[in-house]
Amino acid sequence: MTNTIVAKFGGSSLASSEQFRKVKEIVDAKPERRYIVPSAPGKRNGKDFKITDLLYLCHAHVESGIAFDDVFKLIADRYISITQELDIDLDIQVHLEKVKSDLMDGASKDYAASRGEYLNGIVLAKFLGYEFVDAADLIIFGENGCYDPLKTQSNIQEKLKNIPNAVIPGFYGATEEGEILTFTRSGSDVTGSIIAAGVKAKLYENWTDVSGFLMADPRIVENVQTIEKITYKELRELSYMGASVLHEEAIFPVRDLGIPINIKNTNCPEHPGTLIVDDSYENTSHGKITGIAGRKDFSVISIEKALMNLELGFCRKILSILEMYGVSFESMPSGIDSMCFVIADSQLKNKKEKIVEEIKRQCNPDSIEVYPNMAVIATVGKGMAQSPGIASTIFRALAEAHINIRMINQGSSEMNILTGVETDDFEKAVNAIYRAFNE
Ligand code: ADP
Ligand code: ASP
Ligand code: MG
Repeated sequence: MTNTIVAKFGGSSLASSEQFRKVKEIVDAKPERRYIVPSAPGKRNGKDFKITDLLYLCHAHVESGIAFDDVFKLIADRYISITQELDIDLDIQVHLEKVKSDLMDGASKDYAASRGEYLNGIVLAKFLGYEFVDAADLIIFGENGCYDPLKTQSNIQEKLKNIPNAVIPGFYGATEEGEILTFTRSGSDVTGSIIAAGVKAKLYENWTDVSGFLMADPRIVENVQTIEKITYKELRELSYMGASVLHEEAIFPVRDLGIPINIKNTNCPEHPGTLIVDDSYENTSHGKITGIAGRKDFSVISIEKALMNLELGFCRKILSILEMYGVSFESMPSGIDSMCFVIADSQLKNKKEKIVEEIKRQCNPDSIEVYPNMAVIATVGKGMAQSPGIASTIFRALAEAHINIRMINQGSSEMNILTGVETDDFEKAVNAIYRAFNE
């Protein structure tokens, strides 16, 4: 391990010149903050736009043959005002014109989206006095469009070896042929993690607009407590289930090297935030939960057949039908003669009827129903394992709030209890569970 810190700053942390100033103060406060990964400028207030969204919009305009000057002006104005207000000696206009002409020439959707981080990287590098290193030269995607960790890691080691301080834009990389590709949305979190692993950093700081990973989404629960320490595994469960503060794939590059992630607040840098640590960390708060997260828009396919338990291969047939349609499921609660599949609506899309027909044809069930509008809530915590009463606390809280539970599932690690409720009850249910463990 080196003494290096990699710091990623999210969109809200770099949304305006005022935010850039805060970022510089943070970076300057510790010389170990040597590699900085910026997102594209985010929203300055509730009504504002994210630059990445505007870039996608420009691309869609070009695709449909509609002029995009007005949308592009919103993008250009943001970078111009940041550079002017900070008095940065940079001809941003040249870079903006190049992006605009590339868009007009039919640049790809990923290329378009990546320019938010690219331009912000150029501006931030100048402002900090750091070198700009293009992510396209570091982060490699293979022929299948998937990120190539081996090539990327040796690339980073080689290319950053002699660069003491650099700004590397988040969210994108390139194939060996130079085609720009992005990660999924919020992917700058992943870039930060990849760079941290590549330079064997002692710490990966992820700077955002909240004081760490909170026990529940602050947009749903008021006055939520910060989680002081959380293991990679717990975090993965919470991120996957909708705690959007960190991209769900961001832990993988750093996990094997044991590099901790510190979620920090750019607007309150003195707050210790949340430390994400190795899975061996023993949570002392036995019997307590670590956090709650959830997602809406699930459907349940419920299948019943008498003596299902005796019919060899029944489950395999259903799984292969789901596989054939490229559908993955979240959870599979089952009984003696019944089986349910909890599936995100985004997965099912227009395949629902075909899947149901195929299950009827191959498995001949007594009944098969699809129930829509379910929200799934994950109550997560290592401290839950082998401590009685956790499930009953959740169920009592939901019962007292008059919320009907449609599904219950506990993972074998006893680290996660999933409850399915009506979509309309989602916010009320998260609040009820949070209060039950914190009052
Ligand atoms: P950034 O632009 O810095 O990448 P994001 O918007 O991706 O920030 O993530 C931070 C946001 O995540 C917070 O403003 C908050 O609204 C939301 N969020 C959802 N769940 C949680 C949680 N459990 N803890 C903290 N923030 C959460
Ligand atoms: N700017 C990209 C997005 O909005 C990536 C990121 O913010 O991490 O998704
Ligand atoms: Mg983010």
